[in-house]
Amino acid sequence: MNSIPEMFGSMVFNTKVMRERLPEETYAELQKTIKDGEPLSSDVANVVANAMKEWAVEKGATHYTHWFQPMTGVTAEKHDSFIEPAEDDSVIMEFSGKALIKGESDASSFPSRGIRATFEARGYTVWDPTSYAFIKDGTLCIPTAFCSYSGEVLDKKTPLLRSVELLNKQAMRILNVLGNTEAHRVITTVGAEQEYFLVDKKYYDKRKDLIFAGRTLFGTPAPKGQELEDHYYGNIKPRVSAYMKELDEELWKLGVLAKTKHNEAAPAQHEMAPIYTTANIATDHNQLTMEVMKKLALKHGLVCLLHEKPFAGVNGSGKHNNWSLTTDTGENLLNPTKRPYENTRFLVFLAAVIKAVDKYQDLLRASVASAGNDCRLGGFEAPPAIVSLYVGDELEGVLDAIEKGVTYEQHTAARFESGVDVLPNFRKDTTDRNRTSPFAFTGNKFEFRMVGSSFSISDSNIVLNTIVAEALDDMATELEKLDVCDEAAVRALIRETYVAHKRIVFNGNNYSEEWVQEAEKRGLLNLKTTPDALPAFVAEKNIALFEKYGIFTETEMRSRCESMLENYSNVRHIEAMTMLIMARKDIMPAAVLYMHELAETQKAKADIGIATEQDAELILAKKLSALIRELHENTEALDAAVAEVMKIDDGAAQAPAYKDIVLPCMDALRKTADTIQSMTGSKYWPYPTYDDLMFGV
Ligand code: ADP
Ligand code: MG
Repeated sequence: MNSIPEMFGSMVFNTKVMRERLPEETYAELQKTIKDGEPLSSDVANVVANAMKEWAVEKGATHYTHWFQPMTGVTAEKHDSFIEPAEDDSVIMEFSGKALIKGESDASSFPSRGIRATFEARGYTVWDPTSYAFIKDGTLCIPTAFCSYSGEVLDKKTPLLRSVELLNKQAMRILNVLGNTEAHRVITTVGAEQEYFLVDKKYYDKRKDLIFAGRTLFGTPAPKGQELEDHYYGNIKPRVSAYMKELDEELWKLGVLAKTKHNEAAPAQHEMAPIYTTANIATDHNQLTMEVMKKLALKHGLVCLLHEKPFAGVNGSGKHNNWSLTTDTGENLLNPTKRPYENTRFLVFLAAVIKAVDKYQDLLRASVASAGNDCRLGGFEAPPAIVSLYVGDELEGVLDAIEKGVTYEQHTAARFESGVDVLPNFRKDTTDRNRTSPFAFTGNKFEFRMVGSSFSISDSNIVLNTIVAEALDDMATELEKLDVCDEAAVRALIRETYVAHKRIVFNGNNYSEEWVQEAEKRGLLNLKTTPDALPAFVAEKNIALFEKYGIFTETEMRSRCESMLENYSNVRHIEAMTMLIMARKDIMPAAVLYMHELAETQKAKADIGIATEQDAELILAKKLSALIRELHENTEALDAAVAEVMKIDDGAAQAPAYKDIVLPCMDALRKTADTIQSMTGSKYWPYPTYDDLMFGV
């Protein structure tokens, strides 16, 4: 086998390959585009395209595709082969600069809601040279942005790139006003930790709910869940370990910096974390990671579940979006250094993030809203629906001192003393972790923990970049107005910003009931569900924000909000329909059969004169009989609820109706079915149980 350094990026048209295969001038020009955002000439594109093709064909590729990220949140691709007819009825392999730069595709089948009428179907995919091309399944994949004929954005990459540029610009203004002379660019860095479940395919195939809805809609808990806390970081089973090993290798080939892997809190739950990179590449890589995770699982006879809540009663899966800002000279702007109180530049950036998160809590919340994530947020396993920001004790002390106008007494971090001579002692981190915070400062980055496991991280990062850019913009504007921008003036602005927005800072337990009340007192939002959260996209202040910076137009925001509400309704609809089929076709017959068996037994006992009123068969049969009636009633009620909600044709009204009318009926039906399961013999039960699914690998 190849060594890891050899394997790494072997399927990527990266700088190393470019340097080897491109003429020096072309390479230099392309680098200018990649690093400084300069436009690319068609000559350069032609040379690059040809080199890419030769490289890809040598690696066995036959096709190319513009790989893009429509608003569905998954990636899309349409494959074209390299073949072109030549003389003598033969073909040659060709790939032009034009085909590299621009693709045309029918955009009408992708969600756009209201941006275009369906007859205006033309959509363009445009090469993003800042994210490397790669080979996947014999196809050269070219990361592209996707927009409509009239220029409207139809994807998740274009606005992300815009927000990254915006943040660079505003952060540079701050650096310059603070006397920066070295940095020329500020780069948004992101590392997305990905949680997932693995179940055996033979069980998965028998669960209609997993197949259609991605989560179990019925099922009693296994006798053992995560209460012993023995799965987190626990020993990895050989089958899972083999999967993880191959996952690393496949990701490495694609240039994904897969770094950490471990078991997560719930049985059958695992995590993979990569080393961070630019926000754009991290987003592409996370999409690829999810795709590879799913495909590879099948090869191992497993199915990878990326749903936010596949199983009731144990933790669901999220994605921690680690986010920071770095200069092109390699300085992390969110690094507090040893003496944060004296680090004015750090404090300006910290204050800006605090302001941004406070002012746009609703947008951050909306960026993680989905039917799946509703099953997880606020369930005491993931952050609540209330957005707050954790800074830790030390920084709170620093900010407190600034607010009060007193000097902060810097205490050096304590040393870790184990009391055991052979164990090394070391200097401790100055703050502990807080696992309950939705938005936590973790040393030199913020970790946004509300993102759902199946999400594209694009949405959250677009929001994060834009809101922080605005806060930096505001602060830069204040500072640029001053005749002398001295230390005192900057610190006054930090103080003012912190005081105005400190209500968002919370260092306590986010899972506690007291916090819910405290947050309400502070006037923080608690947008519990997706239909509550999504309208934030069309709130006046938020439309104004995105329009001001040219990230989204009002039409685009309205369309996004609508398409996400529609998605919520569709998901709930599919879940409800799946439940109806399962209840009617499988669960009901199983219950009837078992009850029949009990009744028959009781009858047989009566025939030989040994039946009594106290017999278990009789008692169970009566209970089941009542539950079967309840199951029938609840099935009918769910059916009626769906029919009622389907009559609503306004998407904004339909989504809340699915939540308020359909969801309670789904819950009621599940409760009855689960009770039936708990008393029905295994051989009658039509589905693999939670025991099988979570402990069967
Ligand atoms: P922890 O386990 O404390 O959350 P890790 O160091 O394991 O922290 O990092 C978790 C994730 O955060 C990884 O994906 C890592 O690459 C990413 N990360 C670390 N530093 C940064 C940074 N400056 N910007 C963005 N992401 C980062
Ligand atoms: Mg983490």
